[in-house]
Amino acid sequence: MGWKSLDDMELAGKRVLVRIDINVPVENGLVTDATRIERIAPTVADILAKGGRPILLAHFGRPKGKVVLDLSLRVCLPALEKAFGQSVSLVETLEGAEARTSEDENASILLLENIRFYPGEEANDPEFAARIAALGDVYCNDAFSAAHRAHASTEGLAQLLPSCAGRLMQAELSALETALSTPTRPVGAVVGGAKVSTKLDLLANLVGKLDVLVIGGGMANTFLGAMGADLGASLQEPDLHDTARDIMIKAETAGCRIILPVDGRVAREFKAGAAYDMVTLDQNTVLAADQMVLDAGDAAVDVILDEFKTLKTLIWNGPLGAFEIEPFDIATMKAAKAAAHATRAGALVTVAGGGDTVAALNLAGAADDFTYISTAGGAFLEWMEGKTLPGVAALGG
Ligand code: AMP
Repeated sequence: MGWKSLDDMELAGKRVLVRIDINVPVENGLVTDATRIERIAPTVADILAKGGRPILLAHFGRPKGKVVLDLSLRVCLPALEKAFGQSVSLVETLEGAEARTSEDENASILLLENIRFYPGEEANDPEFAARIAALGDVYCNDAFSAAHRAHASTEGLAQLLPSCAGRLMQAELSALETALSTPTRPVGAVVGGAKVSTKLDLLANLVGKLDVLVIGGGMANTFLGAMGADLGASLQEPDLHDTARDIMIKAETAGCRIILPVDGRVAREFKAGAAYDMVTLDQNTVLAADQMVLDAGDAAVDVILDEFKTLKTLIWNGPLGAFEIEPFDIATMKAAKAAAHATRAGALVTVAGGGDTVAALNLAGAADDFTYISTAGGAFLEWMEGKTLPGVAALGG
């Protein structure tokens, strides 16, 4: 941890440029989920409490360097004001921002219009970054979810101003460092989901760091196939059998045990309520051409739960089956509940992230008990892949 937090900064009378992520879902001009907005409220409150003046920078959608009125941040104002309990002014132009930020009166919180309206943002243009930097005295990055991008507002500003992490960034980094950089061992991970191809870097990095790796979902089929199983119509990527074998060898060399499902729920239709058989899975399994493994089976879940009992730290990304359609949610729900229970009991530190993972844990009612759930998506995955995130590196992390 080489980065500073708000606790390390002197903010009285300072203009604080705060990069936030409020790229929230919007329907018919209304924010439908304000979670991202609510999560930055502590940062804004702490800056105000320290006598600083927040000037918020954010992107919204992909305007690609042009003004796209449908992607104005105006839509976020009511939710921001509700979350902060005070007024927020949208500043539509850089000239307007220059005028407003040079006023010395401690006026309302400012929100600069969609930073991606400017081509200099995604290009990380030094001149653009300098112009934005001139609007503030201190830079605070609270957008971990954008930290895998080297843009002017996520990376460039940190080179130009005294910088720190906001509260949400601080929580993300602390959780990720606890889970992967300095975990209490044994440390394990559940990696599930559809495809090995989207998680190759993730698997390659994790096997070098973990004691146990539980592989589930469609990607387990690719590993079983690589061992010789014929899994019929199951989702898998036969062209990645060699890669799967490489990952297994790398894991063995690194001392990471790979746990594959020892049985599965096997159906002939990919639909809710489809009839299924519980089938033993190993290198000798041969399914009919129209059969599909849609979920880990009961014995597989028992093995996974036994593994959880030995662990002190658990990372979770991806479901153990096609969790959106019952009854193929069973393994994911049971394992998520067990991890939540162990976390509540103080026996396990649990850190989860990645799009579908959050949905699955919410469905299991497990999300509140997990130690930390990252909503950062791509940035979470890149961290787990062992990549350097430019926005974090620029803060000194
Ligand atoms: P990912 O985005 O890679 O985490 O994959 C999540 C998706 O994988 C979910 O939509 C699941 O329904 C799907 N999935 C997981 N296991 C299976 C499986 N055995 N067969 C088909 N789809 C699966």
